[in-house]
Amino acid sequence: MWVEELRKLRKGKLIGREIYYFPEIDSTNRGAHDQGRKGAREGTVVLADFQSQGKGRLGRSWESPAGLNLYASIILRPPIPPKVAPQITLLAGVATANALARASGLDPRLKWPNDILLRGKKVAGILSEMEAKDTKTQFFILGIGVNVNWPREDIPPHLLEIATSLRAEGGREIPRTLIAAEVFEELEQAYTSFLQEGFSPRLREEWNRLSWINGKRVTVALPDKTISGEALGVDTDGALLLLDREGKTQRFIAGDISLRGE
Ligand code: ADP
Repeated sequence: MWVEELRKLRKGKLIGREIYYFPEIDSTNRGAHDQGRKGAREGTVVLADFQSQGKGRLGRSWESPAGLNLYASIILRPPIPPKVAPQITLLAGVATANALARASGLDPRLKWPNDILLRGKKVAGILSEMEAKDTKTQFFILGIGVNVNWPREDIPPHLLEIATSLRAEGGREIPRTLIAAEVFEELEQAYTSFLQEGFSPRLREEWNRLSWINGKRVTVALPDKTISGEALGVDTDGALLLLDREGKTQRFIAGDISLRGE
């Protein structure tokens, strides 16, 4: 079974040192919260073949067909304040993009804060959640969904314009074991550096090099308004920088962005 192979590949490593596998689960992030509360060690992974209620951000759902794609949630216990924990989402984007590039030969790019795109369509998404008490991060869940072997004809019509898969773009199937192993390895290296160096200039440069949005006109939707401008990339702390119509640079630490312009 592919999970056995993955366990072997991750032996002696941090991420994937322990893998809880479910043929079916409601949501791997939800399962990871359970494990986190029970005291699972950092690097523990919850993995599933199928999610009946895969989650996106803000209550949105993540389409999770059985047996084709990767649905993994990683439990981390970073000794950092909750305020800077979202930087982990950005490093996970860089790590996932690099891993997918290596495994597929394609050219994945990043859309702030949490999407990985191929030719402008979402091939993977990251859903970060955390449990914190006061100023202490108890644990951090890094949920990663990658559309691996989803045939284009199986992608639901309402997602065809915005979603794709490695197979739809590259024309070949790739074993999920390979994708998971590459993603976990890249993540482990990026996370280890992050714990030593924080959100380093190197990480920032790498994010901006992989950015799909830099130089493009984007709209940021905030709870109460929208702001359009040219995306300038991420700042030294991971905030999104936008050059607005008046020529002023604005910073965003959270929000939804679209590439529609106005
Ligand atoms: P975003 O950050 O792009 O707003 P989310 O991270 O919240 O999106 O992910 C949920 C959204 O992604 C859904 O509302 C839907 O539009 C889209 N989506 C759902 N399932 C998939 C999938 N398997 N692959 C790509 N996009 C998806």
